[in-house]
Amino acid sequence: MALPEVAVLSLGGTISSTQTEGRSGVAPSLTGEALVEDVPEISEVAEVSADSFRQVPGSELVLEDLIELAAEFEGRIDTGAAGVVVTQGTDSIEETSFVLDLLVDRDAPVVVTGAMRNPTLPGAEGPANLLASVRVAISEAARGLGAVVVLNDEIHAARFVQKTHTSNPATFRSPLAGPIGYVFEDNARIVTRPVGRRHIDLPPETQDRPVALYTIGLGDDGRLLEFVRQSGYEGLVVEAFGVGHVHSVMTEPLGSLANEIPVVLASRTGSGEVHRKTYGFTGSESDLSERGLINAGMLDGPKARLFLSLLLRSGASREEISGAFGLPFGA
Ligand code: ASP
Repeated sequence: MALPEVAVLSLGGTISSTQTEGRSGVAPSLTGEALVEDVPEISEVAEVSADSFRQVPGSELVLEDLIELAAEFEGRIDTGAAGVVVTQGTDSIEETSFVLDLLVDRDAPVVVTGAMRNPTLPGAEGPANLLASVRVAISEAARGLGAVVVLNDEIHAARFVQKTHTSNPATFRSPLAGPIGYVFEDNARIVTRPVGRRHIDLPPETQDRPVALYTIGLGDDGRLLEFVRQSGYEGLVVEAFGVGHVHSVMTEPLGSLANEIPVVLASRTGSGEVHRKTYGFTGSESDLSERGLINAGMLDGPKARLFLSLLLRSGASREEISGAFGLPFGA
């Protein structure tokens, strides 16, 4: 029987990083083809076509790369791929996977993976993660879930996953929802189907719509906000304290900025929803909402920033942006 087709596109990252001449430390160097060839078990599971789409660290990727990648994936799926896999640097997986989740408008699984230990180290887990990802990419159960992140034999929904440790292979967690499945022996098992999948349609040519991300700290007087205003940002995400609080001195500058550009209120805790009506002091979530800030809901700061930037690129109006943030990524 013919094996299902899977497209593997590599973007670089630790999973592909080896020692390069004349430099200390490893850097992305292995091609997508080499990564797949290194795992002979893959050929027993799927008919894989592998390509190198980029060869960079995760920190080098930008939205344009992901917009191009999403279009490439839709093409591969339309021409017969049962699922697609991205290998890349783990540094930005929580963001890139969310962008693919929003942009790829297909039911075929979109799986993002990487590795925390590079191939020159004992215990490098790239090959195991790649094999597990191919198993998820061909899984019927993983269809229609949106983009998922597969590492360490766990399956996480892109909209919830976060990188939580600098070096531990179990770094990927979904504090709000938990993993939605796992891989064991030769199976991919889905135990939870996330609801509230979203899609953003972009016009063929879109321009960068820069959005700043600003984490508030104790005693912060908000002087950076003036820089945000002057430097051409078209949106701002504020990672505030707890359920959405800032020092009272920041409320006026935030309110006046929110009159000019969309300002989204997220939480620096990284998990849980920003509240709407629990506290009533100056600088509280209800005060900031009255001053025009948009509630990020359950999105953490980095994901809210990408969501806002893609909405701006899609041409959404201020009302449409508020409406999009107001709709939960859940039920
Ligand atoms: N530490 C990163 C990784 O795991 C480096 C990167 O994102 O390229 O791949």
